[in-house]
Amino acid sequence: FTVLALESSADDTCAAVVTSSRQILSNIVVKQLRLHEVFGGIHPTVAIEAHQRNMPGAVRRALDHANLTMQDIDGVAFTRGPGIGGCLSVGSNAAKTLAAALNKPLVGVHHMATHALTPLLTTPIDQLPEFPFLTLLISGGHTLLLLATSKTEFRMLATTADESIGRSFDKVARLLGLDWGTKGLGATLEEFCRKDIADLPDVGPFSVPMPGKLAFSYSCLHSSIERYIASAKTPLTESHKVALARAFQDAAARQLCAKLVLGLKQLSMKDIKPKHVVVSGGVASNSFLRARLREALDEYSPDEKVGLVFPPPELCTDNAAMIGWASMHRFLMGDYDDYTIDLRAKWDIREIPNLKGCLQN
Ligand code: ATP
Ligand code: FE
Repeated sequence: FTVLALESSADDTCAAVVTSSRQILSNIVVKQLRLHEVFGGIHPTVAIEAHQRNMPGAVRRALDHANLTMQDIDGVAFTRGPGIGGCLSVGSNAAKTLAAALNKPLVGVHHMATHALTPLLTTPIDQLPEFPFLTLLISGGHTLLLLATSKTEFRMLATTADESIGRSFDKVARLLGLDWGTKGLGATLEEFCRKDIADLPDVGPFSVPMPGKLAFSYSCLHSSIERYIASAKTPLTESHKVALARAFQDAAARQLCAKLVLGLKQLSMKDIKPKHVVVSGGVASNSFLRARLREALDEYSPDEKVGLVFPPPELCTDNAAMIGWASMHRFLMGDYDDYTIDLRAKWDIREIPNLKGCLQN
């Protein structure tokens, strides 16, 4: 079964062709970084206009790269939500119109579920995460710790009390005066932390908020950095900035590790012992965080090794291959959406319908 998938929930215009035999035949991502850099964040109107400009060409290239025509496509998938309403509508209207014109089945999927299910597409078959797995979704709009019990059923263990980890990376990068580079602020901050600088000043560790509680909190972390910078008597030197960036990244990692281990402990008390932890979303492309999470799991369970699974970095950030893959089981079951289906700009992951509108939870 071959799916053409479209994604436009935030600032990347994406189109991809994916097959039921786990092949990614094409994966086109058109980034809008330069357009939003001047605004310091995603500007919704600018993003909508860019999606409108870029989506047709992205679809054309996805078919060309896959060496297919629309006649070879068996179904069309798109992101139904959550995301920026106007942005979602560009991908969804394109998908619905293509499907209707060509009389192909249509499936709309939940963006965060697709981040969580990506490793089922990208991991070697003998290392696939098994349900139930724990999933840590760390992205621009979300910080979620969930227990995935099936492709459509997610139980919420924790979310953020304030802002997402991705936004926090973006804000700290801006506070340090970094630019968006080719991959965005978060990736630039990670790279900045790797700068080889002798004699780093001691800026002290930043603490993990709400110890003992599962909820994440990232705004206090970026506010501490803001206060530190505001109280500095002279402009920050490069080495000072690197020290701050590292202290931030380290505290962000410590918080993720602490909450992940706490989540595993709480599940274990209910006799639920997931064999795998899946970490996905844009921030999961950060290699420092990946290494810290592996260490935390090894320390938590040295004997029974808990598998830690990430998509490849380029499939952690938004892409349409994950949209196509997460739609596949529904196409194969014949569980299609009507061409009239609405968008869900706000959509709780616990409310994904299973088979024609039935809620599992
Ligand atoms: P959501 O998935 O919640 O709707 P989104 O789709 O906008 O949000 P993603 O594309 O999944 O978000 O991730 C983008 C976020 O990931 C941005 O905040 C970006 O700064 C961050 N990010 C990307 N690469 C890295 C990295 N290497 N280190 C830290 N953060 C990163
Ligand atoms: Fe995303």
